[in-house]
Amino acid sequence: MEPLNYFDNAATSFPKPKECGDEVLRYLNTVGGPYGRSFYDRALEVSRTVEDCRELTAAEIGAADADRLIFTSNATHAINIVLKGLNLEGREVWISALEHNAVTRPLKFLEDKGLLRIKILPSKAGGLVDTEALSKTDLSGAGLVVVCHVSNVTGLIQPVADIKRAIYNTGAAVPLMIDAAQSAGHLEIRTDQWDIDYAAFTGHKGLLGPTGTGGLYIKDPSVLEPLINGGTGSRSDSWETPGFLPDRFEAGTPNIAGLFGLAGALKNKPVPRHSREDFLSLLDAVKALCGISVYAAPDAGLQSEVFSITAESAQVSPSDVGMKLYRDYGIETRLGLHCAPLAHRTIGTFPEGTVRISVSPYHSPGDFERLLNALENTASTIRA
Ligand code: PMP
Repeated sequence: MEPLNYFDNAATSFPKPKECGDEVLRYLNTVGGPYGRSFYDRALEVSRTVEDCRELTAAEIGAADADRLIFTSNATHAINIVLKGLNLEGREVWISALEHNAVTRPLKFLEDKGLLRIKILPSKAGGLVDTEALSKTDLSGAGLVVVCHVSNVTGLIQPVADIKRAIYNTGAAVPLMIDAAQSAGHLEIRTDQWDIDYAAFTGHKGLLGPTGTGGLYIKDPSVLEPLINGGTGSRSDSWETPGFLPDRFEAGTPNIAGLFGLAGALKNKPVPRHSREDFLSLLDAVKALCGISVYAAPDAGLQSEVFSITAESAQVSPSDVGMKLYRDYGIETRLGLHCAPLAHRTIGTFPEGTVRISVSPYHSPGDFERLLNALENTASTIRA
């Protein structure tokens, strides 16, 4: 087995199941044709595959009704549909202290227009939402709560079911959106069971699909305006956008090649080459290294397979560490703020950021061993 030195899976996953690329090419080179717009066999095969992909994706996030899942270009697009499509005028939007710019930037854009106010949910050290404090928070002015399900910086898994319950206990009926960009494909998401109102996700990370794919689960479509309007292949006689899903939120030709690839990936998920214990042992071993600080979840039960490190010495920057890991050992990581300055402020690593290590199911215990050796050697040169 080839060594796998790519530890930047939180940016986008690599490798993908072979069938992902095969299916993209099958659409481009063999099947062809439009989605949802024609009657001939080629077009029907496209529609079947896209709807198949919808069912597979809905199952992946624990949503029984695939009709409430719409495809988008990525998680950012899905999040924007909710933040700009809900009527949040004059309302507060409460977010966790670990949100990504995909959430904070559209909200800041709307706040600067005087449309809403951003508030931060009560949290414990490391950004874990404090559900007890939340249940006593006054949410009477809130229009939405947004929580990053898994932090793309520390891998902290937020207890979204408890958060939903805490919101309910405040007595205010406030919908909850989860940003599942880093959780879809990595952990079990129970959208229906947890009573999630909006689940935004991307296809190219944990779901192991192509870039340019993503989606949004919408519990109650009647309260959401579409972000874009246009041709859907349905009700073409009318100037009005159809009210039914998915057409209401899927104007324009979708990324058919990408959705073929995503379906191919979801039907051929790899058996992970490492166990949960292998990952947790790696994390423990990195924590034990002298000269390196680790930023991770407060306990293993809340830890997804991504974490951050810095050198303990303030003289050594994340880019010094990351460049050394790459130049000397070929280890590919992501340096800096990871589009999550709020999260870095929360964990105390702003403005330099960290070196982020994010794992793939294709990593073997041998890959972890090579990473650990590289980190050990890097730590000892930093100390010297
Ligand atoms: N939220 C989080 C937590 C992320 O890590 C990312 C990707 N870095 C996004 C949202 C945005 O995902 P995409 O780039 O696929 O829109």
